[in-house]
Amino acid sequence: MQHIVDLHIHSHLSRATSKSCNIEGLYYWGKLKGIHIIGTGDFTHPTWFAELRDKLEPAEPGLFKVKKSIANEIDKTLPPSVHDSLIRFVPTSEIATIYKKGDKVRKLHQVLVVPSFTEVSAINSRLERIGNLKADGRPILGLDSKELLRILLECAPTGQYIPAHIWTPWFGLFGSKSGFDSIEEAYEELSPHIHAIETGLSSDPAMNWRVKGLDGVTIISNSDAHSPQKLGREATVIAAELNYDDIIGAITTNDNRLRGTIEFFPEEGKYHADGHRACNLRCTPEQTAAHGGICPTCAKPLVVGVLNRVGALASRPDGYVSKAAKNVEYIIPLAEILAELRGVASTSSKAVQTDYHDILARLGDEFSILRTVPTEVIREAGQPLLAMAIKRMRSGNVVREAGYDGVFGTIKVFKNSQERSQTINQMSLL
Ligand SMILES: [Zn+2]
Ligand SMILES: [Zn+2]
Repeated sequence: MQHIVDLHIHSHLSRATSKSCNIEGLYYWGKLKGIHIIGTGDFTHPTWFAELRDKLEPAEPGLFKVKKSIANEIDKTLPPSVHDSLIRFVPTSEIATIYKKGDKVRKLHQVLVVPSFTEVSAINSRLERIGNLKADGRPILGLDSKELLRILLECAPTGQYIPAHIWTPWFGLFGSKSGFDSIEEAYEELSPHIHAIETGLSSDPAMNWRVKGLDGVTIISNSDAHSPQKLGREATVIAAELNYDDIIGAITTNDNRLRGTIEFFPEEGKYHADGHRACNLRCTPEQTAAHGGICPTCAKPLVVGVLNRVGALASRPDGYVSKAAKNVEYIIPLAEILAELRGVASTSSKAVQTDYHDILARLGDEFSILRTVPTEVIREAGQPLLAMAIKRMRSGNVVREAGYDGVFGTIKVFKNSQERSQTINQMSLL
């Protein structure tokens, strides 16, 4: 059976997250989105860990489900079209490390995945001696990432350690500001225990295929959601038995069970291009080189984005396809498409939210609508404009404005508002 897996999320106990990042909110939105395996996030936080033990119960080996009494109440608030969707949780946590190595300050983020609460407890009791786990759901530890990996291996033999959003300038394993140039530089003799990396929103598998040093690791995608509405912004598709070992086995071996990833168009990510936010300047890598890496407006250094950094570490040309390549699907979140069709800026506008829930009630969960429901069916459900937008999205026929220096990029299905209103007029004539 195919499962959509999202291992990197945050709870309401991480900074700058939504209050609805609780188990109820994750379950509710997981079903609307059509995600099957959700990382708990933040298992190092004592309050969140207590909430997990309180609201989850063991399901298949290494997986957890929401207790029936809680699930039943939430199911009453969901449309019947998504009732049958299955939701399982697996213990995960993102940990930030900050340390000096080779005369450079390193700041890295990594996601830990383990199959049991016993192992969570063992990891937490080791880490609480190193730093304050209560301060943030994503704790910051003054610890060499390699030593964090060692702790995971000692506490959880089948645990996984996944470098998170590896290309982001700050906090990425390969980040331009505080990262490394190779897995080996960071993890030395423990490098063989790194089986997978997370692309992050600003890079896609094709960009990663260009880097030879990543040939031996599996490319996965997660949402890094800070609110349950953002679950599954990116995700991994795995066809495996419903248990921890089989799902993780797909990730460690990158065999046929690992079907592929669901991706943002990488230009939508906040660090795809180079630039300087304070000066509203976006640059291509070529423009950055022409500027000598300095902002022509304010003379501060430009923030080197992911595309540029991939180019610096790549030994293969743009367009190279890895032998281990898996299926890659690009999506735009449904609420963003609906906002564009409505001509409104915010996905949280009342009209967009009403459209969103109406469409899900008719057609099923969001991932089905974005990925598999035939566009004729969407059209026949009274959504000809949405059908057209999804057709464009699925074929990659979208308008891209790249993000830079922390500013999200934009992906549109229409070139401009004129094309949008012309299309709407034509459709109303039909
Ligand atoms: Zn992170
Ligand atoms: Zn500037």
